[in-house]
Amino acid sequence: MTLTQQDAIAFDAADPLAPFRERFVIGDEPIAYLDGNSLGRLPKATAARLRDFIDHEWGARLIRGWEEKWVELPTSVGDLLGRELLGAAAGQTVIADSTSVNLYKILHAAAGVRPDRKEIVVDDTNFPTDRYLVESVAAERGLTVRWISPELVENVTPALLDSVLGPQTAIVLLSQVDYRSGTLLDLAGLTAQIQAAGAVVIWDLSHSVGVLPIDLDAAGVDFAVGCTYKYVNAGPGAPAFLYVAERHLAQARQPITGWWSVADMFAMSGDYEPAASIRKMLSGTANVLGIVSVEEGVKLLAEAGIEAIRAKSIALTEFEISLVDQWSGSSAQTLVTPRDSSLRGGHVTVRTPQARAIADHLIANGIIPDFRNPDMIRLGLSPLTTSFAEVWAAYETARSFGYSS
Ligand SMILES: *Cc1c(COP(=O)(O)O)cnc(C)c1O
Repeated sequence: MTLTQQDAIAFDAADPLAPFRERFVIGDEPIAYLDGNSLGRLPKATAARLRDFIDHEWGARLIRGWEEKWVELPTSVGDLLGRELLGAAAGQTVIADSTSVNLYKILHAAAGVRPDRKEIVVDDTNFPTDRYLVESVAAERGLTVRWISPELVENVTPALLDSVLGPQTAIVLLSQVDYRSGTLLDLAGLTAQIQAAGAVVIWDLSHSVGVLPIDLDAAGVDFAVGCTYKYVNAGPGAPAFLYVAERHLAQARQPITGWWSVADMFAMSGDYEPAASIRKMLSGTANVLGIVSVEEGVKLLAEAGIEAIRAKSIALTEFEISLVDQWSGSSAQTLVTPRDSSLRGGHVTVRTPQARAIADHLIANGIIPDFRNPDMIRLGLSPLTTSFAEVWAAYETARSFGYSS
């Protein structure tokens, strides 16, 4: 069956989440925004909340704001995000810093709960920040990095993990959804496998949070980190989250021991005594404007419901994949993302030798994709904001690309 523009129109008309598009600032251009998994669109509620915050909280309460409510925001919004998007009971999630900084803290904390083991496992296809930080923390703690080299699409399999897990494995760091291929890993299954070997797992949820259901507590995950400016739509540089399972809290120690991590931050005491709660993972003064934006982003996702979001995400990626198959421009293009919806997250990646030129052609025509060096085009489909009509517009424009042979 050949898909047409009429199909895109019909899918939008039947989409129960379609009204959410109006909750975001969406202008006439770009014609199609397919990079909401790098930087989500701006929710109107966030724009209004920030203006209100500036006028009535920052402008009016000044320093009093901290004790009145801002001090609690890292944990109160952490609990909200944990409950709505991570399947995490209260007291295990905070909003703070960037994903990179949180990963640094979590890697140290994780190493500290497996003090007798000497290896950290990470895959060489993982996001650069994840690989670099594993190397730094390993060097600082005298640990060895055990690299695994998964095939891009298949990603980390139980068999591959089995080949490196052993009595020396302290930590395994994995991304739930691969930032390039979009491959979705079996979080619960791999967590159980890693823990059966006596190691702890850190999940990077940057490309999965807000686009699919996650159940950290049910899976018994040890640690997790992730971004809020992708599918959570909290804005450029919005603070990230980190999760520490309650059973590890007492033992967990992190290295950026700022005054926000202590038992009584206003005591200004001489000796460092970490908080007993998840606040021990904080470091310095919270980015209040950023956390307020995270709160609005999470509220919007919660209102839509993560199951409905996942259903639309699957429908959008199915549509995109069908169009990639239908695209007659070049036989050299191949789908990188898994065809089985249970094995993929919210984006679709195509490999083609003319990726750079096609991406430029799309951009010149008002379509924003994501180019991944050297030969991949990634299409991020954000369920609350991406319409089927946008996906169609990208397809039509890509089809009009004039190949040079
Ligand atoms: C986007 C992303 C990050 C980004 O980290 P920052 O500290 O926010 O720059 C980290 N890890 C993964 C897997 C990502 O996709």
